[in-house]
Amino acid sequence: MFTLPLALLLMQAKTVDLDRYVYPLSKPLRAPRITVDVKDAPDMAAWGAKAQKLATDWFPALTSWLATEGYHPPRRLRFVFRNKQDAPAYATGDEISFNAAWIRQHPDDLGMVIHEMTHIVQHYPDNKADTGWLVEGIADYTRWWRYEPEAPRTKINFEKATYHDAYRTTAYFLAWVGKKYDLRLVPALDRALRKGLDPMPLFASTTGKTAEELWKEFAADPMVWKR
Ligand SMILES: [Zn+2]
Repeated sequence: MFTLPLALLLMQAKTVDLDRYVYPLSKPLRAPRITVDVKDAPDMAAWGAKAQKLATDWFPALTSWLATEGYHPPRRLRFVFRNKQDAPAYATGDEISFNAAWIRQHPDDLGMVIHEMTHIVQHYPDNKADTGWLVEGIADYTRWWRYEPEAPRTKINFEKATYHDAYRTTAYFLAWVGKKYDLRLVPALDRALRKGLDPMPLFASTTGKTAEELWKEFAADPMVWKR
């Protein structure tokens, strides 16, 4: 009595692409040597030491979450703390510049180190497509969905928001699409960006749907946090 349904189940199981449920990991790479420069803001020494350790400990994880085959990390990195700067932090090739005034007001914001270290690992070449939003979306994805997934979810105002809003909105969208359709999406997007290719066709080839179609589904999902 049970043999037929079981046989059917097994036949079906054979056709399921199980790989889409597995987040593919690259080889973890060792962190560069990080020096901390607090000449401009000596009170940042303790925070800087925490950030240095955090970045060193998590660098191997960050490199394993992204498509870093063939990527060579910089040998050294500098964390520089500045009293005057607009953004809370930004990364260039081998330096992360931190805004000391921001950190004094948000000392718990160590997660931004993960965001900036993701930019160090990304180090993408120029892209003819408009991909800045996705670069920031991936950096927030590693921060909010891989490093601190217990943090409260951002709420999205779907009257105004788009998938290319960058940062947390894009990160939430990537996490949702990955979980629902294929966890290989973010590494696939990262790989395309590393090659300087237009990443947009990856949405359709990975999920069967365009980013626009996926965004509509995302917006309609009652489980998604909304404003
Ligand atoms: Zn960023």
